[in-house]
Amino acid sequence: MSVASQTHAIAERLQTGLRTAARGLIIDGKSVPARSGETFAAVNPATGEEICQVAKGGEADVDLAVQAARRALANPSWRDMSAVDRSQLLYRLAELIERDAEELAVLECLDNGKPATLTRAVEIEGSIKTFRYFAGWPTKFGGETLPVSPRSGAKILNYTTREPVGVCGLIVPWNYPMSMAAWKVAPALAAGCTVILKPAEQTPLTALRLAELALEAGIPAGVFNVITGFGEAGAALVAHPGVDKIAFTGSTEVGKAIVHGSTGNLKKVSLELGGKSPQIVLPDADLDAAAASIAAGIFFNQGQTCTAGSRLYAHASIHDALLARIADHAARLTIGNGLDAGVDFGPLVSQEQWDRVSSYVEIGRAEGAEIVTGGGRPAGMDKGFFFQPTIMANAGRDMRIVREEIFGPVLSALSWTDTDDLVAQANDSDFGLSAGIWTNDLKQAHRLAAAVKAGTVWVNCFNLVDNATPFGGFKQSGWGREHGRQAMELYSEIKSVWVNLS
Ligand code: NAP
Ligand code: MG
Repeated sequence: MSVASQTHAIAERLQTGLRTAARGLIIDGKSVPARSGETFAAVNPATGEEICQVAKGGEADVDLAVQAARRALANPSWRDMSAVDRSQLLYRLAELIERDAEELAVLECLDNGKPATLTRAVEIEGSIKTFRYFAGWPTKFGGETLPVSPRSGAKILNYTTREPVGVCGLIVPWNYPMSMAAWKVAPALAAGCTVILKPAEQTPLTALRLAELALEAGIPAGVFNVITGFGEAGAALVAHPGVDKIAFTGSTEVGKAIVHGSTGNLKKVSLELGGKSPQIVLPDADLDAAAASIAAGIFFNQGQTCTAGSRLYAHASIHDALLARIADHAARLTIGNGLDAGVDFGPLVSQEQWDRVSSYVEIGRAEGAEIVTGGGRPAGMDKGFFFQPTIMANAGRDMRIVREEIFGPVLSALSWTDTDDLVAQANDSDFGLSAGIWTNDLKQAHRLAAAVKAGTVWVNCFNLVDNATPFGGFKQSGWGREHGRQAMELYSEIKSVWVNLS
């Protein structure tokens, strides 16, 4: 059987299974309906058709999940687990994701729309790596002894310890559902926390499978709960006094609502929010390499990526040549149903997102930008939420298509001549998530890397992400950093202990 027909066969089997009953919430190790009995439809963005019904969790369900997570936090089988055993559980979970990789990849494709080859290579492979990486941390994450100098001259021992922050509400978006869940669940569990995961309403299915696999791996009931549902379920988690921390990825608007909603018990909050990342191209850049990576940086995942390089600052001397090359890459993308072979560009996640992207193209046109390529629905694709890869030239620094996050496959191109003005323009943004710099001039590369206000800077590359290096934003792109030691710190409290030895 060819890979494509195998993918279709897995999709068929999954859908048949999913249709038999509504998917429940995962609370205290069991799949349960919402207290209200309500459900909602998971929709396939490539067809607009229902995949299955999913429990619509609300405040009462969140409360039950928080109680389960609090009990699990205090349960000696989790609280007192040795670092080696905790590590082993996370490794086992990584192995189970790997065992079910093909199925999970197809499930994500059905729910989110992105090509199955990409869900397999990026989301599922990435999630396996994330669990393996954080499985290594429990045995390495500890405190220090510190050389304090008490005035009395007393002999004092001072040391620090790390404790899990407690019950964590993890609220994730629909653009990389499995990866975003893994980025939060893995360090939270490695740090000894218990969690309630709230996936986006558009993409609840892989989150539920992940929690089932965690149970199969031997992670105790109540440690990893999932509440599927709408924004109100997320808001209930944020407001709940039994939750010690919220980790959120999504829009800046909801991020701000979370900051307001969490003041009741001043729970810890970390935020990975939107971006409007600049791609800065100097006259000496390798244009072929830059064009390929800039095209991937805005069209990968249909532009629904927080780090999408959506503002292009091309030096005037190479602007037209570069744009022509990027447009050429856009034209070569194969648009279609993500289950089909050779497809590398799927639909947007929902009709709502399609309307949003389309309205920005209209706004850009009205503001005076010019469509180089794309701008709407691909010809002949009437079903599903497909939108063409789009490039808009002659964009101006005050245009909304340059200032606001579109979250779709739309590149806004500007040209520049003066380096100081370029830096000012690149930094003239509410966001500061990431930036790309394209040049072979070593000094310019490092000067610009230092001058750009962004949490991640890529030089002659773009969108590289690794569990070992921190990821997060300056300015309104967020609070805190995921990945690496920084992620372990997000999910722990540090305690300083003073012992008088005199
Ligand atoms: P969103 O509203 O920020 O959703 C992210 C998550 O937050 C979802 O699980 C959502 O649940 C939940 N949520 C919504 N309202 C909440 C509230 N008041 N309190 C707590 N949780 C809440 O993002 P979206 O509506 O899916 O997308 C809108 C725009 O956000 C996009 O067009 C894009 O610009 C941006 N976005 C950015 C990222 C990123 O990675 N930076 C990711 C996704 C979206 P529901 O799904 O049930 O609403
Ligand atoms: Mg869906």
